Amino acid sequence: MVCGGFPAERCEDFVSYSSKGRKVRRRRKSVNVRNLIILIGGAVITIVLFVLLVSGAVRLISKGLGAITGQGSSDTSGSSVTSSDEPSSEENQETAYTWTTVQMAEADERQGDLILVNSTHEYRSEPEDLLIFYGNKTNSYGLKEAEMYAKSSVVTAMNNMMDAFKEATGNTSVLLTSAYRDVDYQQQLYDADLAASGLSTSDSVSKPGYSEHHTGYALDLSYQSSAGNNYLDGTGDYAWLVENCYKYGFIVRYTEDKSSITGIISEPWHYRYVGTVHAEAITKGGYCLEEYIEMIKLHDSTNPYEFTSESGSKYLIYYTAGAGATTDVPVISGKSYSISGTNEGGFVTVVSLDTQSSTTSSTSDTSGDTTSGESGSSADAASEESGSSDSSESSDAVSG
Ligand SMILES: [Zn+2]
Repeated sequence: MVCGGFPAERCEDFVSYSSKGRKVRRRRKSVNVRNLIILIGGAVITIVLFVLLVSGAVRLISKGLGAITGQGSSDTSGSSVTSSDEPSSEENQETAYTWTTVQMAEADERQGDLILVNSTHEYRSEPEDLLIFYGNKTNSYGLKEAEMYAKSSVVTAMNNMMDAFKEATGNTSVLLTSAYRDVDYQQQLYDADLAASGLSTSDSVSKPGYSEHHTGYALDLSYQSSAGNNYLDGTGDYAWLVENCYKYGFIVRYTEDKSSITGIISEPWHYRYVGTVHAEAITKGGYCLEEYIEMIKLHDSTNPYEFTSESGSKYLIYYTAGAGATTDVPVISGKSYSISGTNEGGFVTVVSLDTQSSTTSSTSDTSGDTTSGESGSSADAASEESGSSDSSESSDAVSG
């Protein structure tokens, strides 16, 4: 038995001191020694208790701070490990959202800003809402032909990007050389390329069905010079486009450093629209489209990829595998979102955490960063005609 840290017999002495004064007084000397021991012992106990108390308080405070910083910066991958021993505030923060689901059809897997089309992913769909550039574009760039189409969101984004390019550089020499192509036209280009090269396959023209140009999301840009038309090389004034295109939802799809993954040589003229959020995430993350989709596939709605744009807007981005005829894609109630098929068997959802309204639209870009565009309404026919009249020269070579 221990009493206040002392063996039992000493406790008895202490009790006898307080309760039986006289008897103790006769043993004053020995009691004084005991008192001294008790005092020292008491002091030791006090110090020990104090140390325990302080360390407890420090632990409490650090726990609190950890929870606060964890909320702001928890990058999805690591947080699940640490949350196991403190399931309180951090997890509640994550699950505070009310989740619901949106049903997506199997065909939707092949539609949307983020669809992957390359030599192993055939485009087996037809783009909806194609818009002709002629009559719908601004006067900051020209057209190689009168009959050029892209998704309406892409026409708007192109107008906004080229208006900003003109504003920044004063340069209006950019010529849209190739946009949407149907499969038949791609077949003609492919056959012509084989005939010209004498080879059995082409390394510059995609096989019909495997070109991004079928999707209505891809644009080839050239520029007019005294030497004729040349595909953009991303230098001089045109470096602005390489650096800023993500702000308008475009990526430079085929870069030198990713050619081993994309299977396509560097094409600084081929711009692919993926929407503003994905374009910024891809560009800032240093991914090509193939790598980006692989990365997002590691994040489902319970472990979303958290992305903060340079404007400070916060997004959750996550993958949902296709589940046959219909797929239930999780979304957060009251938050705007966009869902795109990937054309490789699933869906990628972007939830905008900053928005309160529930503007829901599937398989399209709802990110809201691009202002809705009617900017193309006052198109300049003169510049279009000058563009379309310029037919031959080097930009006739076909890519993509
Ligand atoms: Zn192209």
